[in-house]
Amino acid sequence: MGLGVVTGIPGVGKTTVLSKVEGLLSTERLKYKIMNYGDYMLKGALEGGYVKDRDQIRKLPLALQRDLQLKAAKSIYEDTMALGEGGVGLVDTHAVIRTPQGYLPGLPSHIIEILKPNVIFLIEAPPALIIERQKRDQARSRVDYSEESVVKEVMDFARYFAVSSATFVGASVKIVLNKEGLAEEAASEIVRVMTGR
Ligand code: ATP
Ligand code: AMP
Ligand code: MG
Repeated sequence: MGLGVVTGIPGVGKTTVLSKVEGLLSTERLKYKIMNYGDYMLKGALEGGYVKDRDQIRKLPLALQRDLQLKAAKSIYEDTMALGEGGVGLVDTHAVIRTPQGYLPGLPSHIIEILKPNVIFLIEAPPALIIERQKRDQARSRVDYSEESVVKEVMDFARYFAVSSATFVGASVKIVLNKEGLAEEAASEIVRVMTGR
């Protein structure tokens, strides 16, 4: 049933929603895999001794980020292929990354053409709620995304970048609202789209 790429600004709730997707898919008789792009990049970054945690990856020199990005895409492609034709793959990632050197495409042409998703999901929520979620989540360091003006700008850029990536492979772009306390609702929407119901 193909691959879906799930994007959205840091703290909007991608990983949370995908954990609910996991719960829903685990009751179905189909092969599925949820892959966190940041986990694949972190593995490479830790092996190289470049970072101590995942929130440091976006501060690395761009050339290094691009190198880790490409290696991650190749591994995700292999893991997706292992699912076979009827399987569902979901990638937890970003359409754009705000770096000190500017906005880096998360899914530039050479990456999206490796992954070839059917759908690019864009998880959204009101900016004030995203900021509250970031504040509550002490396990992560998202200070570079915590100003309201930054959140709004990144949300705009996330839409532009998602659309431009989608056009390379003919993927649809599906906006999914992650309402407060209702991550399961967003998860159901993703499952509905991926299973074609
Ligand atoms: P990143 O891109 O930085 O990995 P993310 O989009 O994966 O961020 P999460 O880690 O899933 O974001 O969520 C950030 C915080 O928001 C977590 O503390 C999570 O519990 C909370 N959260 C997620 N979805 C909701 C929701 N629907 N209602 C309330 N809180 C939520
Ligand atoms: P996350 O846990 O989703 O925030 O991922 C951790 C970090 O991995 C992000 O902050 C980015 O630096 C990096 N990352 C994730 N997906 C991509 C991508 N598609 N392209 C480049 N970097 C990415
Ligand atoms: Mg996450």
